[in-house]
Amino acid sequence: MSGDAGGPPVGRGWCVDCERYVGDAMAVAYAQGNSGPGKVLEACIAHAREYAALWFAPQWLKDDIAALDTAGTAPDADPRDPA
Ligand SMILES: [Zn+2]
Repeated sequence: MSGDAGGPPVGRGWCVDCERYVGDAMAVAYAQGNSGPGKVLEACIAHAREYAALWFAPQWLKDDIAALDTAGTAPDADPRDPA
């Protein structure tokens, strides 16, 4: 399966909503730290969709979900896509 073409990296990680490890976790937020690298918050795709639908969701998250939807359907399913 080469499902990562155009989509965000999805893999095993901790879903902050499920509060357990899931096999389809993706980044939903980056917590900025004053020192050192920031913390990445992950959620399963189902919860990531919910985050992406919120008004305060970052644009990159909306883009990631859109890319997932594009990758998850037929490549030529959307004629509006100029690519
Ligand atoms: Zn979840």
